[in-house]
Amino acid sequence: MCDLSVKPLLQRVRCRSNRIVVESTNSGWMTASGVAEAPDHINLQGGQVLSGLNVVVCMKQVPDTTEVKIDPETKTLVREGVPSIINPFDTYAIEEGIRIRERLGGKVTILSMGPPQVKESLKEAIAMGADDAVLLSDRAFAGSDTLATSYTLAEGIRKLGGVDLIICGKQAIDGDTAQVGPGIAEHLDIPHITYVRRIVELCPGYIRVERMVEGGYEVVETGLPALITVVKEINEPRLPSMKGLMRARRQEITVWTAQDLEVDPERIGLRGSPTEVIRVFTPEVRASGEMLQGDVQEQVQALVERLLKAGVL
Ligand SMILES: Cc1cc2nc3c(=O)[nH]c(=O)nc-3n(C[C@H](O)[C@H](O)[C@H](O)COP(=O)(O)OP(=O)(O)OC[C@H]3O[C@@H](n4cnc5c(N)ncnc54)[C@H](O)[C@@H]3O)c2cc1C
Repeated sequence: MCDLSVKPLLQRVRCRSNRIVVESTNSGWMTASGVAEAPDHINLQGGQVLSGLNVVVCMKQVPDTTEVKIDPETKTLVREGVPSIINPFDTYAIEEGIRIRERLGGKVTILSMGPPQVKESLKEAIAMGADDAVLLSDRAFAGSDTLATSYTLAEGIRKLGGVDLIICGKQAIDGDTAQVGPGIAEHLDIPHITYVRRIVELCPGYIRVERMVEGGYEVVETGLPALITVVKEINEPRLPSMKGLMRARRQEITVWTAQDLEVDPERIGLRGSPTEVIRVFTPEVRASGEMLQGDVQEQVQALVERLLKAGVL
């Protein structure tokens, strides 16, 4: 058994488990062995073997607005003139990555795909305490749907190499699909666990977490490398420190293009995006509901009257 509170482990150990096991809070043990097999490591391309854990956090820069505007021509988000922020769910992912590094040692790298302006958000993550940041940026990536986005990010992770744990936010507040995290795991052929609210145990080769489900939580364990997506209940993200801000100002952000990643041109950007947006619209505001008053008898009578009037009965 290993624990986040134990002393940093200085060498890699074999996977404790290469299967996902699920324990439910409602029905006692509910072992679902064989749900997913974890390979011993992600196809390494010269990645460093570190003491501690090599963590990658996927961070998306999103518009800082609750009023998302859609371009009627391209059916994509209008980003011009809207200030940008780190996707709020990703701040929890960054914080968790930093906490893991602080307890177990290793490295936290922030990975993002987007235009050059994303460098600002990557520097903010470094100011929080991340070690390094890589931006995947190329005109060829523009117009990517979730399939192409997750493929491109997966290829970035493959190029980083030697990754133990990938952490994503639960979802992005603009796209809102929650597909990218699981998509990355599928492209890398590693297990993933979504909606993680607490890491119970973690060591090289093994993770055990609590994942939120309706009305409770499940305890899930798997071998590493794996990907988790986190919810806001997992931690309280820290603010950048003065030292962190100074370090971020000096640090160069690595930028990788499509050529650097050696990606399949048919699987990136608009060409690699099979999603077709048929129509984008703002839902009509519905009339507010009516609360029926009185005791049960009176409420039933009032309801029947209204249903008769509406022609439902
Ligand atoms: C035809 C089409 C064209 C599109 N063109 C564009 C475009 O040009 N530009 C654009 O920004 N969007 C574009 N989109 C939207 C794009 O599909 C999503 O923004 C993107 O794939 C992420 O999906 P999501 O926002 O639902 O993220 P979710 O799946 O909800 O995000 C979950 C988590 O995945 C990670 N993640 C998601 N996206 C990124 C990222 N880019 N970098 C790092 N980590 C990430 C984060 O950890 C995030 O918390 C397009 C969509 C379609 C259908």
